[in-house]
Amino acid sequence: MIQLVLFGKPGAGKGTQAEFLKETYGLKHLSTGDLFRHHIKNGTSLGLLAQSYMDQGALVPDQVTIDMLEEAVDQTPEAKGFIFDGFPRTTAQAEALDAFLASKNMEVSATIALEAHDEELLVRLLERGKISGRPDDQDETKIRTRFDEYNQKTAPLRNYYQAQNKFYSVDGIGAIEEVKQRIAEVIANLG
Ligand code: AMP
Repeated sequence: MIQLVLFGKPGAGKGTQAEFLKETYGLKHLSTGDLFRHHIKNGTSLGLLAQSYMDQGALVPDQVTIDMLEEAVDQTPEAKGFIFDGFPRTTAQAEALDAFLASKNMEVSATIALEAHDEELLVRLLERGKISGRPDDQDETKIRTRFDEYNQKTAPLRNYYQAQNKFYSVDGIGAIEEVKQRIAEVIANLG
């Protein structure tokens, strides 16, 4: 069983690389952003709640997010392992994930951080927004708020996972194929 956390700022390439990891290692890809967008599309009460935060570029409250993620894991009992994309984003979420996995005799195998600087990410997100139509990718102010949220609430998870010897930094700049190779090397070297 391998449980990967994909870590990185919005636009770092987590979703793109998760698709590759899913194929290569037979893992289930769970993106909390995708789950929220699915709820919004279906007009659920969770979707309505999440949308009010997402529209601002702010994080959705922890407990709502944790409950949704745990439900999604429980709905896939046959999975060989998971790629957590965009989760955890706060220390409370990371602690909840550890406890949840431990209750199933599982643990995070590695946290892979895709590193890229803000100006590159801003360009990527604005480009993506033109294609996807995602409102939070089309407005520079919202994008900057998401970077701020990341710096304040998500960046501390670097220390959290480093303390567990599970943190791997990968250069997220370059061709998709090159970044894939870098991630594959990290996975190949996992104990
Ligand atoms: P993403 O698709 O990962 O860029 O997420 C889009 C938006 O969904 C974020 O800006 C947050 O508003 C919300 N979101 C996704 N994942 C989380 C999470 N783990 N915790 C809180 N909010 C989240």
